[in-house]
Amino acid sequence: GPEGILLRQARRESSARTYARSLPIVPVRAKGMTVEGADGRRYLDCLSGAGTLALGHNHPVVLEAIRGVLDSGAPLHVLDLATPVKDRFVEALFETLPPEFARDARIQFCGPAGTDGVEAALKLVRTATGRRGMLAFAGAYHGMTAGALAVSGDTAIREAIGPGADEVTRLPYPHAYRCPFGTGGGESARLAARYAETLLDDPSGGVAAPAAMILEVVQGEGGVIPAPDTWLREMRRITDERGIPMIVDEVQTGLGRTGAFWAIEHSGIVPDVMVISKAVGGSLPLAVVVYRGDLDRWWPGAHAGTFRGNQLAMAAGTATIGFIRENRLDEEAARLGARLTAGLRQLMAAEPAVGDVRGRGLMIGVEIVDPDAPPGPDGSRPPAPELAAAVRAEALERGLVIELGGRHGTVVRLLPPLTMTEAQADAVLDRLCEAVPAAVA
Ligand code: PMP
Repeated sequence: GPEGILLRQARRESSARTYARSLPIVPVRAKGMTVEGADGRRYLDCLSGAGTLALGHNHPVVLEAIRGVLDSGAPLHVLDLATPVKDRFVEALFETLPPEFARDARIQFCGPAGTDGVEAALKLVRTATGRRGMLAFAGAYHGMTAGALAVSGDTAIREAIGPGADEVTRLPYPHAYRCPFGTGGGESARLAARYAETLLDDPSGGVAAPAAMILEVVQGEGGVIPAPDTWLREMRRITDERGIPMIVDEVQTGLGRTGAFWAIEHSGIVPDVMVISKAVGGSLPLAVVVYRGDLDRWWPGAHAGTFRGNQLAMAAGTATIGFIRENRLDEEAARLGARLTAGLRQLMAAEPAVGDVRGRGLMIGVEIVDPDAPPGPDGSRPPAPELAAAVRAEALERGLVIELGGRHGTVVRLLPPLTMTEAQADAVLDRLCEAVPAAVA
């Protein structure tokens, strides 16, 4: 039974287990936004495989695409050989990119995880520029392999890799609620941009000409922090003026999640390198890096990897891209995100334990704070990790799967499928509006 499975896996699996600790459910069936546990209980899934399931679980077009490959007798594993399945995937993907970028862009298939896409991007810009340093951001998350960790923010998880992080200069990310400069929110973006520019131009600022800047348009794991468009355009100007390639990590924000097919579209910035994974494999493992053609100074085999040719993932990804575009699910994400956010703002007004509601499209963060502590100089209240964990538990009790993120694990992250119905969005709201006061009580 489910209890035995939970116990055995807790005993056999490593202490690095994450979700399995906080979400003691044993999923056996799933459809759309609904997951059914072995005990027969049903849950609304706002975790969506950490944002992977753009179309929800087991979407018919995804299943059909996978079955199509299986039934055709095509090889499932072909390293990086040319196939019709790959051809369709690349063409579909390139059609979604900004035209001026897609025109002479190149694609590299990577090992099947976002973190390997990031590794490829970092290696590419170092090879192309002959420089080593990286500009990254406080609060960033780019994956768990050594190079990706070096450009991530979390000092505790970065410990494990040693000196690789030395070549990375971390800049403040424009956080409106917890402004890195301690002022009110509105100033955060302007000050963060000025700080970056001042540091880069200071001959004694300690930043050698970097190989690239790497950023998320909305920091996900860092606590669902959307960067203002003005700041993104400033970062593009600052890097352009200094000949620094910009890597945008769209691993979590891509495929309609933020209310545009790519999160870069909101500000109109065009990156030099884009890292893409999660939803692009239609729920199967796939990661790619797409980049400006003139950066393509790699030698054959410069970024190899056995599992770069997952045909099922490419077919599922092609179907996912097509379905999102045909049904304007990016616009749906914007509409449903606005609906959820409006309801959550009402909850915030009624409940001092909700310090902030923020995000873009269907990438929404609800920050749980200490309702009894006085606000600090930037107006924010201290994070409340135990209260946030209690909110997650109360939500699960009410049939809602949510996860926590952010620097202190106090940000409820909502990443529902883009196919969520209005009724499901309202059910998410109702359950959260019960879970928060229940956790506080
Ligand atoms: N970049 C971003 C922005 C991410 O959110 C993640 C995963 N949460 C990664 C990279 C790493 O992806 P993966 O877990 O597939 O290695």
